[in-house]
Amino acid sequence: MTRKPPSIAFPDGQTVPALGQGTWSMGESSARAQVEIRSLQAGIDAGLTLIDTAEMYANGGAEEIVGRAIQGRRDRIFLVSKVLPGNASRHGVARACEASLRRLGVDRIDLYLLHWRGPHPLADTVAAFEELVSQGKIARWGVSNLDGEEMKELTALPGGERAQTDQVLYNLGRRGIEFDLLPWCRSRGMPVMAYSPIEQGRLLHDPTLKRVGERHGISAAAAALAWVLREPGVIAIPKTASREHLKQNLACLGVTLTDQDLAELDQAFPPPGRKRPLEMI
Ligand code: NDP
Repeated sequence: MTRKPPSIAFPDGQTVPALGQGTWSMGESSARAQVEIRSLQAGIDAGLTLIDTAEMYANGGAEEIVGRAIQGRRDRIFLVSKVLPGNASRHGVARACEASLRRLGVDRIDLYLLHWRGPHPLADTVAAFEELVSQGKIARWGVSNLDGEEMKELTALPGGERAQTDQVLYNLGRRGIEFDLLPWCRSRGMPVMAYSPIEQGRLLHDPTLKRVGERHGISAAAAALAWVLREPGVIAIPKTASREHLKQNLACLGVTLTDQDLAELDQAFPPPGRKRPLEMI
């Protein structure tokens, strides 16, 4: 019996599980589709009902996989998708959203994000998001890969204060946001969505992480996730298309890292001592 993930609230009051599921690289091969769908469904059944996708992933292919995985389960799902910067103009957002809705097979996206900042003014993207909210095509919106200064700029725009999240790279090896962005978001009651929480698998051979995991009887992947979720205000969205990996990852939910664990991890992965440019993958 695995534990359910803790829940976390967006500024508008909507709650979601703090551990969700990523989908980057899904939908690239029809031979893998069934395995990806079954893994997502097993995650949903375990309570990982927040699913993160994007029009970019496999050129819409990941959204189609998500659409198939959530058939008959839509009511339980919190669906996150993203618009590409090149599509994020006043009218381009609506077109991109329609295409995402079609691929996902739903009539509403629960959280729609600007994938990263591009050529179109943020004010135009915000206005387009707000229009989609008023039409009921998205329930709320946010951004991704914006740094602290850009978040201040965004939230000062008309309607910009309704941004619900910033989805950013955050894991043991990428701690820069702890210096400024994370405290700023926390002060506004805005969760950060941590993408690549196990650094796309590259963290898993780290000896300190392995040792900490062994101490709790969990894998290095689960230890990395327990670390990302150690404090409130963060949603982690690891991707796996393997039910064995899913099971391992779910084990993070039963674990509270000790002061000793955290000190050893700080030694191996020092927290930022000064402001750093926002990192992206
Ligand atoms: P993750 O850190 O989630 O790592 C995913 C990789 O780790 C996959 O190769 C997966 O393979 C493997 N993996 C997962 N669990 C385990 C485990 N227990 N043991 C061994 N390997 C494991 O990286 P992602 O970049 O995928 O980030 C997560 C999600 O965040 C994305 O899928 C996407 O939804 C989002 N994202 C958003 C970005 C943005 O710009 N907004 C940028 C990047 C990601 P396997 O499937 O075989 O388990």
